[in-house]
Amino acid sequence: MTKIRKSSIEIEKEEFRKIGYKLIDDISNFIHSIDQKQVTPNESPSKLQHLLGNLSLPENGKPATELISKATDLLLNHSLLNGHPKFLGYITSSAAPIGALADLLAASVNPNVGAHILSPIATEIEKQTVKWLCQFIGVSSNYGGILVSGGNMANFTAFLAARTAKSPKSIKENGVQNTSNKLTVYCSKTTHTWIDKAVILFGLGTNAVRWIETDSSNKMDTKVLETTIKKDLENNCIPLMVVGTAGDVSTGVVDNLSEISIICKKYDLWFHIDGAYGVPAAVVPKFNYLFEGIKEADSIAIDPHKWLYSPLEAGCTLVKNPQHLIDTYSSHPEYYNFSKNEDDIAQNFYEYGLQNSRGFRALKVWLTLQQIGRSGYEKLITEDIELSKMLFDLAAKHPELEAISQNLSITTFRYVPQEHGKNNNYLNTLNQSILNELQTGGEVFLSNAIVNDFYCLRACIVNFRTSEKDIEDIIEIIASVGKKVHSKLSKEE
Ligand SMILES: *Cc1c(COP(=O)(O)O)cnc(C)c1O
Repeated sequence: MTKIRKSSIEIEKEEFRKIGYKLIDDISNFIHSIDQKQVTPNESPSKLQHLLGNLSLPENGKPATELISKATDLLLNHSLLNGHPKFLGYITSSAAPIGALADLLAASVNPNVGAHILSPIATEIEKQTVKWLCQFIGVSSNYGGILVSGGNMANFTAFLAARTAKSPKSIKENGVQNTSNKLTVYCSKTTHTWIDKAVILFGLGTNAVRWIETDSSNKMDTKVLETTIKKDLENNCIPLMVVGTAGDVSTGVVDNLSEISIICKKYDLWFHIDGAYGVPAAVVPKFNYLFEGIKEADSIAIDPHKWLYSPLEAGCTLVKNPQHLIDTYSSHPEYYNFSKNEDDIAQNFYEYGLQNSRGFRALKVWLTLQQIGRSGYEKLITEDIELSKMLFDLAAKHPELEAISQNLSITTFRYVPQEHGKNNNYLNTLNQSILNELQTGGEVFLSNAIVNDFYCLRACIVNFRTSEKDIEDIIEIIASVGKKVHSKLSKEE
């Protein structure tokens, strides 16, 4: 090695500028013509493997220009585009363009947001982001929290804090096997699958989950919740927590959070809200009533990469008394870094969650919150909900569509051919085939939900690019694909 090291990783200044400007031009063109493209090119895995070529690990390096140019082509021309105005599948939002710039900037400086000393300004920005998220959803800014990779991790992070807080005191040292009494958790039967992973991961086992029935409006039946808790107490179980869902994945229903909070208080249980999808709607004053009780939550999971339009990945755990995070995750239990005058005390995020080294995912959330502002979000989220209602109304009016449910920005509906008797098995098969056709067709992307044994098409609008025209188009597309698939299927019968 020479005294002055020349590294093959470095990109010369001028070359970096050239590659960067070209990339930004390509991204700008991509974003501004995204509505002209197919939602998905629908290429088979083998076609994509062929495109990549079956090469082994490169022995020698290649110029960065060539690599970035090739990668740009692969990504821009062979991806499913969830930023497309007609992408309404699952709960994946269009990404705010400022987030792309934020990630570039964050990766360039590369702060390690595990420890304050390694990321002084980034840590403060993350703390401010957490505070703003509290204000966004209308809970006290004294909640503490941490950004994580998504909703699952946000729920896990809260779950373990709840387990530490509500189990017998020795659980951190002795583990769950030393509690002879069974630890139990409660959630509605519509709860997202994260809960299964959580009870496996944190040692309770899947039998610890009490799946509570829902009432006629699809909310957790709080009477059944209370009787289940009582029965478990009589049987010497140790109930730990109740999970209320604020916007369930299938139909967008928000549980009765205030009733759940009262039951949690009565039995001294941890009250967790899984608001991964729906809790941002609390920013809209006229929907506040849906979230009554939110201020009582011990912890809340929110997912900025869903309805806050952040690029993947960004989730967040908020905890009413952040000391519970320290108690759970700090490796120096005696270390106390929360004081009334916390301004001068460095906060180390590795003590707040599962990760050690951490990226700067807060930057994109922080910037988007400022670019749009509270009022801007109120408008965008209200519009998403109105578009979802419009889709429901148009489906209800259409002679070959049946509107099934509409909550927050999720609409479910199905295709029902006029001349066919309502044989539910056939309708389920038909709608499943229609969904497959739609998902591969590239004109519009929806997903599915099972509602009261009906296989439904499901549109979730967390997409600031979707317009009324798109909704009208989507109705036409579905009616026409529905007709085509029905005519094919009914011949086969
Ligand atoms: C999406 C979602 C999750 C999982 O979040 P990810 O970001 O996909 O990990 C959990 N719960 C609810 C209610 C969700 O909508």
